[in-house]
Amino acid sequence: MPRKKSTASAKKNTAKNVKKPSGKNNTADKGKKTAKAAPSAADKKSASKKKRVQTLALLRGMKDITPDHSESFVKIFRAADAIATSYGYSYVETPVVEYTSLFVRSLGKGTDVVDKEMYMFEDKDGGKVALRPEMTASVARAYIMHGMHTLPQPVKMWYWGPMFRYDRPQAGRYREFHQFGCETFGERSPVVDAELICVAYNLLRDLGVNASVHINSIGTLQEREQYIIELVGYLRSKRSYLSELSKKRITKNPLRVLDSKEPEDQAVVEEAPQIIDWLSDASKNYFMGVLEYLDEVQIPYVLTPTLVRGLDYYSDTVFEMFADDADGGSQNALVGGGRYDGLVEQLGGQSVPGCGFSFGVERVFAILEKRRRQQNSGQEEEQIAQKDRKGLFFAQLGEQASKRALYLIETLRRDGITVYHNLGKSSLKAQMELAHKHGVTHTLILGQKEVLDNTVLLRDMDSGIQEVIDQNKLKQTLKKMFNL
Ligand code: AMP
Repeated sequence: MPRKKSTASAKKNTAKNVKKPSGKNNTADKGKKTAKAAPSAADKKSASKKKRVQTLALLRGMKDITPDHSESFVKIFRAADAIATSYGYSYVETPVVEYTSLFVRSLGKGTDVVDKEMYMFEDKDGGKVALRPEMTASVARAYIMHGMHTLPQPVKMWYWGPMFRYDRPQAGRYREFHQFGCETFGERSPVVDAELICVAYNLLRDLGVNASVHINSIGTLQEREQYIIELVGYLRSKRSYLSELSKKRITKNPLRVLDSKEPEDQAVVEEAPQIIDWLSDASKNYFMGVLEYLDEVQIPYVLTPTLVRGLDYYSDTVFEMFADDADGGSQNALVGGGRYDGLVEQLGGQSVPGCGFSFGVERVFAILEKRRRQQNSGQEEEQIAQKDRKGLFFAQLGEQASKRALYLIETLRRDGITVYHNLGKSSLKAQMELAHKHGVTHTLILGQKEVLDNTVLLRDMDSGIQEVIDQNKLKQTLKKMFNL
């Protein structure tokens, strides 16, 4: 249409003018530029490009989860919610930012997470705060602050959220990542530890991920202290064989040498004294109790004497889960957890035992996405689109129809039926094009006539066949059609 044309050509002209300014304005601009000795046009262009690039860049180690990949992410969340709820855990949410001291006191100085990886900064009032690197400490803080020791014990809570660690980004290691976790406070019993392992293991199984459980006991704080003296003596005697990183860790955090991934450390680690030999009978019996429960529920495990976990708050049972080879097994754990009987007291609460795990969402997400790609490879795009087809589109014609459509869409949604629409569009053709783009199998069409008749047309998008349906029976018809 002529009007549109003139708008478009006006835009073009404006664009031209920007590139090649001419006339009065141009002279004025030139004057200003000369007076200020402003940067050249090329400088300006590159400066604005840089600015744009920075605005549109992500921080290293951080990522978006875009709609074309978010299905697996949401699937993990829903499965996590379902399983935690079925085991009697209640959802807890804590702030992403906490006082730095919370993490320093609980995770411990000398740990990589605290010494190297925490995002710490001063708040505007000078308070020292940090982005949470994990959530167990925050949940323990919440347990104390909300007096949860007065509730019937154990108190079982689950969480989901982003964590931040300024680590070196690599495959499966991000600076912002999500964890799902469960914590049980107020009960020291092997069955609690075993139940937590069950939750994480069964969640992986529900998601179709084959994993193995690696497990160990690191005993009480006193037993560990005795063991560490022995370990440090041994590591010092083998110092020259160790990697530079492990040499540094002998004094800072000797237990971490045991889970070193450096090839040159492996021989030394294999021969190292094993913590199990420093455990009291009570600690050994406790550990045996956990293993017996795991046997009972038929969860296989690998006894791993070198598994110690890096954080100060752990005691007794510690465990990690790794994907089996079929699921692209790697050195990266999918799940990590253990008992932390001293944590609540250490943070200023009562002497309350605790145990928990955290589950790395991105690592499981990567397995699910890889599998999805493999399943889809070899299939034509059209076949994939066909498989993914779901939901309904709602098209309408006229103001009255649009109002009635909104009401019907709301009722259908309440019954769990996904409905796409664009009620702002008045052309039926445009709406049908949109329905095709959404890939729906059926479209509901409501015109003036249908509004008066209290009916709606149901169009099969493949055959083009249209059925007239009574609006009062719409819900039943669709539920039957979509097996809801
Ligand atoms: P942690 O709190 O270190 O025991 O970690 C528990 C789980 O969170 C690990 O087993 C991983 O699955 C996951 N995880 C830890 N750090 C990262 C990271 N930097 N990027 C992605 N996932 C991580």
